[in-house]
Amino acid sequence: MSTVFSGIQPSGTLTLGNYLGALQHFVGMQEEHDSFFCIVDQHAITVPQDKTKLRKNIRSLAALYLASGINPEKSTLFIQSEVPAHAQLAWIMQCVSYIGELERMTQFKDKSAGKSGVSSALLTYPPLMAADILLYQTDIVPVGEDQKQHLELTRNLAERFNQQYNDIFTVPEVQIPKVGARIMSLQDPDKKMSKSDENQKAYISMLDDDKTITKKIKSAVTDSDQEIRFDRDNKPGVANLMSILSLASGKDIASIEKDYSGSGYGTFKEDTAAAVVELLRPIRERHHELMESEELDQILDEGADRAQRASFKTLKKAERALGLGRKR
Ligand code: ATP
Ligand code: MG
Repeated sequence: MSTVFSGIQPSGTLTLGNYLGALQHFVGMQEEHDSFFCIVDQHAITVPQDKTKLRKNIRSLAALYLASGINPEKSTLFIQSEVPAHAQLAWIMQCVSYIGELERMTQFKDKSAGKSGVSSALLTYPPLMAADILLYQTDIVPVGEDQKQHLELTRNLAERFNQQYNDIFTVPEVQIPKVGARIMSLQDPDKKMSKSDENQKAYISMLDDDKTITKKIKSAVTDSDQEIRFDRDNKPGVANLMSILSLASGKDIASIEKDYSGSGYGTFKEDTAAAVVELLRPIRERHHELMESEELDQILDEGADRAQRASFKTLKKAERALGLGRKR
């Protein structure tokens, strides 16, 4: 059976982008693969976090994984910082990474642009991500399009280590969905939707109530003509809403173009909002139940144990290949 790994940062409440580009696909994959899904809290602290909010976001993210359909009997769900091998292998992966290749990462450029006091961990985020993936001898990594470059680097680091020391890491394949891999900001459709965006109107949170979802979609930036046509370059706002409507309703883009030809943006936005409301409401309700239950901690404890056992084996192999520690 092949192995799947993916992680999400508890850097805010998940957005519709995280759901459509990543989380939604995890649910189907757990049926046929040995699956590891991680709450990557060590990644989240590469930018400043409030400690009370971070703790809350970690639990809430665990509940959202489960509410979206992650089944703890089929998948291992765990918190990165509770499994020490992640930080340990990350150090080793930093030792095989070059500063130049890390500086070329667009996420590093975007997140550090214009900021003073950028942490060195923002630069070394990709070697930690490589460690997350390689520890489980992962075959497939389902992610949104923005993570493609980090995945390419992970593959390079794995191959480099295998060649220089010993052939111990599986070189993973990236899996990016055909539609929904890059949901754009509702306020600036040239930028991807992000949960850490300062402008709350730019994203739909998976826990927004029906009214808020509707308001945000109605005020989404489009353009001044009234034509509903899928044209990412010239009509990025409309194309983004069309992708959202398509994924939330199951209708394809061509039939959306046909259904709304000549109807203007009003009804189109209302229908898009209604489809998103229907998609997220059951997840939100289940999330509330899970947050109240004791089940959540048990699942995370068991997940950490399982992840610990699997990751320790790979870490020891890597340390042996490098000559770290003593021979036993
Ligand atoms: P942050 O702004 O803190 O980086 P984020 O919204 O980018 O948050 P991540 O935790 O970095 O979320 O990414 C989790 C998963 O969601 C990754 O697989 C990523 O590729 C995917 N993803 C993130 N944003 C989008 C988006 N706008 N559209 C589709 N997929 C996305
Ligand atoms: Mg991100």
